[in-house]
Order: sequence, then C-alpha cells, then structure tokens
Amino acid sequence: VATYKVGMYPSVCVEAVEKLEKMLAAYFDCPGGPENLYVKEVMKPHPGEGEVLVKVSASALNRADLLQRRGKYPPPKGASDILGLEAAGSVAGLGPGCKGRWKTGDAVMALLSGGGQAEYVTVPEGYLMPIPNDMTFIQAAAIPEAWLTAFQLLHFVGKIQKGERVLIHAGASGVGMAAIQLVRLAKAIPIVTVGTQEKLKATANAGAAAGFNYKNEDFSEKVLAFTQGSGVDIILDCVGGSYWEKNLNCLSTDGRWIIYGLLSGGEVHGDLLARLLSKRASIHTSLLRSRDKEASNGYPWCIQFDLKIDYSFESFLLIAVLKRNLTHYYQKAPPRTYKEHLVKAFTENVLLYFSGGTSPHLQPLVDSVYPLHDIAEAHRLMEENKNIGKIVIEMPA
Ligand code: NAP
Repeated sequence: VATYKVGMYPSVCVEAVEKLEKMLAAYFDCPGGPENLYVKEVMKPHPGEGEVLVKVSASALNRADLLQRRGKYPPPKGASDILGLEAAGSVAGLGPGCKGRWKTGDAVMALLSGGGQAEYVTVPEGYLMPIPNDMTFIQAAAIPEAWLTAFQLLHFVGKIQKGERVLIHAGASGVGMAAIQLVRLAKAIPIVTVGTQEKLKATANAGAAAGFNYKNEDFSEKVLAFTQGSGVDIILDCVGGSYWEKNLNCLSTDGRWIIYGLLSGGEVHGDLLARLLSKRASIHTSLLRSRDKEASNGYPWCIQFDLKIDYSFESFLLIAVLKRNLTHYYQKAPPRTYKEHLVKAFTENVLLYFSGGTSPHLQPLVDSVYPLHDIAEAHRLMEENKNIGKIVIEMPA
C-alpha cells in the first residue's frame, strides 16, 4: 500500500494498492570481490514525482561500480543501492508531474546515480536522452556516464578552446575514448597516455594526435617534445597521485589540471604547490554522481553553452534538422539542476553527431557485451584493465 498526497491539499492523502512486482537485478550482500555478485529478485521500482520508469535493455560498467562493490563508494543519499550508473531501454511508465517530454515506448538512455543493472529503473525525466537514429540499445548504454563525464570535464570545468592541446590519461578507458572524440569535436588536439600497444592503436583510431605508453616511456618528456616545449593546456587526469610531477612537467603556463579519479591513489609527496605556482596552473576536481540534486543556479554558462563547430556545407542542413528535433525536449520544462543542464547541453550540442551522415561523426566504443548473469566476469575484465572502451551488460529479454 502506498500513500500519495493530493495536489494542493497536502493533508489529504489517498492510499493506493500497488501491485507488488518483482524484477531481476545485479546484487551483492557484502562488499568484496566479483565473486560476491549475483542476480537477485528485488522489488520493481515505481516512478515518483517527475520520474520516468525505464525498462532496461542494456547498462554499462563503470569503475565506480567496482568501487561500490568493494564497499568504497556508497551510493549518494536517496539513490538506488543497485549497481549501474547508466542504462538504455524503453519508457515503461510515467510518474505524477512529468512534463510530457516522454511517452511510453520511447527509446531512451539515462544518466543514473544507481540502479541501472536491473530490469527496471526510475530516473528524473530531465536525466533522459533520446537514443540517436540507427543506434542499438547496446551502443546507447555506452554513452551516458562516460560521454557526459568527458563533456562536463572539457566544457563545463575545463572551458576548452579551439586549438588547445589536451592530455587524456587512461586514453582507452570508457571516459578516455569519449574524451578523444569530444576534443576533436571542439577542434582541439587530443594526446593520450595508455598502458599497452593495443590501446595506443585503438586511441589513434579514435582520433588521438599522439599517444604514449606510460609503462615504458616518460610521458611528460614525450608530451613536451610533441608540443615543441610548450606543454598541454588541459590535463584530464583520473590517475592522480603517481602522475603529479609528470603532469606539472608537461602542463603549459596557465594550464588547467582536472582531476576526476584517483586510480593510483591520492597521496602526493613533494613540493606540489611551488610547482603549481611557478606555472600559474590551476587544479580543478569534479565528481558527477554526487551532483544529483544540485541546483543549477551557480552555472549560468550551462544555459548559454553552444558548441561553435564550423559545419561543412554538406552537413549543414542535416545538422540543423537534427538540432531542431533535439531541442524540443526542453521547451516544456527548462532544466533546474546541474545534471539537467548537462544533459540538455549534451543533447542539443553533441547527440546529433552520433547520427549517421553527420560530419564529424561520433561513436560509442563497445569493448564487450555480457549477459546480466555473467556480470562477475565483466567486473573481472575491467579490474584487470583489459577493456578498450565500454563493457556493456545486457538485460534478459
Ligand atoms: P575504465 O574503462 O575501466 O578504464 C580505466 C583504465 O585506467 C584502465 O583500463 C587502465 O588502462 C588505466 N589505469 C588503471 N589503473 C591505473 C593506474 N594506477 N595508473 C595509470 N593508469 C591506470 O574506466 P572508466 O570507467 O572509463 O573510468 C575512468 C576513470 O574515470 C576512473 O578513474 C573513474 O573513477 C573516473 N570517472 C570519474 C567520474 C567523475 O565524475 N569524476 C565519472 C566517470 C568516471 P591502461 O591499460 O591504459 O593503464
């Protein structure tokens, strides 16, 4: 039995009997290794005020899932404790107060603060995006978390400019592969570090102008040589501690060092501040998941954001039509939170480049696909640093 408040009269409540439906979800009872994961029958969620119920077809894995499984990254307050920060599927229901952007059956992809690795998930309507034409659910599931993170870091945090050089660590990661393509889209120059020759090849195919294997060469010297001594304007750093000195070696004067992960830990031994000051450099940090309910008040640039791309004559018309089709999602309900602004800016400025025929053309990179029942295997693959791009989890049909 669920109790609902009625419109303008909050003291008046109605009680409705909701059918107790169940669904399958990835689960673990106690924190630990991948062997703790199993598929469990849990309660199917119901969409609350302004939320949409999505029947999930596919979800993708993120490093955050591995940390959460180990008990080191609890979901933010109010978020589902089921794993999964992104999903693609179809709209299966609408909660009260939805503004009419979505209807049952729409193919959507969702940015989530949890709950994606289950048959159903609920999500605020403003965190949904339409799936680009001709894209499968598997491909679409590889977009929300990785691409929105890379987009946010480059544009909202780093304020990337045309012609700037951007060093992307873990270039073949889910976020890295998205960042390479987004740096190209912004007409800037992506340079990567990776840990294998195979990853060097893959990142070059994705558009990296140069790449260095950090395991057998000093990337900071190589970056300085590649940039003729001037260094990079932006560093997208998910490695942290072990890279601090090399980062500062190859960061340009006034450069922006953006830390968004700590794969090597957070400890720094050395005169970080003096080195930072000598370059007038700045450190920025960012976490997307914890911004769930954050108001957008402090971010007026989100509203004005517009990628200035020099359209070629051939794709001008196609891009204009796609852009018009995508902007209507926000006419009925303008974004209110940081994440809603981010999703809107990405939808209106980037999503169109995933559609066939556009130039430049963006592609989500799927490394491998695992059925939900084999989720432990998927976690092992990521933990061993073997994936290039995204690992996708397919839900039972
Ligand atoms: P992923 O696909 O699993 O790729 C991570 C890659 O990082 C590994 O394959 C490995 O590639 C490299 N790596 C691992 N440990 C390393 C170390 N100690 N030193 C150097 N490189 C190392 O990862 P993802 O899901 O895209 O996430 C990438 C990073 O972004 C993670 O740190 C994640 O936590 C972070 N993230 C942050 C946010 C945010 O909002 N702040 C959002 C999403 C993701 P090599 O073989 O090349 O070493």
